[in-house]
Amino acid sequence: MALPSWEDPKLGTMKRAALWLATVVQEGNIFTLADLRDAFPEVSQIDRRMRDLRDQDWRIDTHREDSSLDNSERRFVAQGVPVWEPGKARSKEAQVLTATRRREVMSRDGNLCRSCGITPGQEYAGSYETAQLDIARKEVRYADGTKAVELVTECRRCRVGGRGVETDDSKTLAALGRLGIMERRMLASWIEADEREFGTVELLWAEYRTLPEESRARFRAALGPETL
Ligand SMILES: [Zn+2]
Repeated sequence: MALPSWEDPKLGTMKRAALWLATVVQEGNIFTLADLRDAFPEVSQIDRRMRDLRDQDWRIDTHREDSSLDNSERRFVAQGVPVWEPGKARSKEAQVLTATRRREVMSRDGNLCRSCGITPGQEYAGSYETAQLDIARKEVRYADGTKAVELVTECRRCRVGGRGVETDDSKTLAALGRLGIMERRMLASWIEADEREFGTVELLWAEYRTLPEESRARFRAALGPETL
């Protein structure tokens, strides 16, 4: 069966982008963001629309996955779901993460829970429960007001909001006993105020740590080249 034309305006952007990859770029080849924008001059943020194909098992590598690529290059590694066929594209809800995609997200996230920093198999402080990592879907609102779902690695406990948490006084108190007087004074002042004041930098750091990789990348880009 002949594939529909990627230039058919009646098809949605994702379908057209998939057909462009399959027929123009073709598997295994490199394209640049400029090629992509030239092919879809009327679509704003075509790069982001193309990224949606990853949720349909399309593999499109960036310099993060493939160090031979530069910042503006992408490699179309493998075709996924033929989204142009009626009823084939998975809806957001129906998307089941493939094992490959899960591994990709976890490795990008440094194989740790982006919310609490725990690594798989590590015990939670004050308990004998060991952590298991999972993938959470985070709704992200972009600077232009549009919304999308990005994937982020979290441990089971963070995902379910701390249910089943058990604390162990002896561990907490033993750790407290090892603090010096200055640290205990600082802690006492926070307890007295029932609040710890965080500086903006610390707040941003904490926020950055919990973001999905796509959001972290935008954050890093916004830091500016003069910080490097
Ligand atoms: Zn966690």
